[in-house]
Amino acid sequence: MITAEKKFQLTPNNYYTNEANWHYQSKSWFTKFEECEAEALAELKGEYKDTSSNDTPLIAGNYLHSYFESKEAHETFLESHKKDIFKYGNPEKGIKNDYLIIEKCINKLNKDPYFPRLYQGEKEVIVTGEIYGVNWMGKVDCLDLNRKLFFDLKTVDKIHKGHWSSEQHKKLNFAQSRQYDMQMAIYKELIKQTFGVECEPIIIAVSKEKEPDLMAISIPQYLMDFSMEQIKEKQPHIQAVIEGEEKPSACGRCSYCRANKTLDVITPLDEIEIE
Ligand SMILES: [Zn+2]
Repeated sequence: MITAEKKFQLTPNNYYTNEANWHYQSKSWFTKFEECEAEALAELKGEYKDTSSNDTPLIAGNYLHSYFESKEAHETFLESHKKDIFKYGNPEKGIKNDYLIIEKCINKLNKDPYFPRLYQGEKEVIVTGEIYGVNWMGKVDCLDLNRKLFFDLKTVDKIHKGHWSSEQHKKLNFAQSRQYDMQMAIYKELIKQTFGVECEPIIIAVSKEKEPDLMAISIPQYLMDFSMEQIKEKQPHIQAVIEGEEKPSACGRCSYCRANKTLDVITPLDEIEIE
């Protein structure tokens, strides 16, 4: 069949674009829709950009990732983030404090007797596949099809800090709180569909403390199974919202919702929801 529409080709250059997000679902966007459908849809349509969020943790994460990707990738990254990373945007003036800590993380990993041997494989591998009828994409930090392992590097403030979940009414660890079990379940499935190999995930976490902490983390299968069930359950509605067939719900608390807020309803004092 010949169609006039050009097929979208996912590449490292367009992976982080909104065009890619219209063609492929991803863990980060799925989570955005779980948090607030109205905000996520507005952002996907390019009608809204959350300018209140702090980009530093994201840039710090990329700093670390590009270092372990390749020398070339790291140099390109530093060159394109001069203003963010260096004092007065000048490499000769030194690195800003926010990123000095990342240098500590890098040194910690490099000095570790296991990390250099463990973190071997192809870096930044794009994987795609179909999950319950929807196209998904993912980018694997480090994939070794021979050892049937894949790795994800994560920076965190403190590995053992608890994070309150208003949904579950208890404190979760950072990896549960950020739904890394879901991310790893998705990647495992996409790797299987892309390469035909069942690989096991390992998260390598490093903390941004004065003395960085380290941990290699495996993900129990029951957590990955549960995550896939969650996707199966929530995806049809999210997909319908993206396709304009169902109305997005608004969380009422995020900066997008606050920006659109009016005093149209009156809330009884004992019904103010808390997080
Ligand atoms: Zn919201």
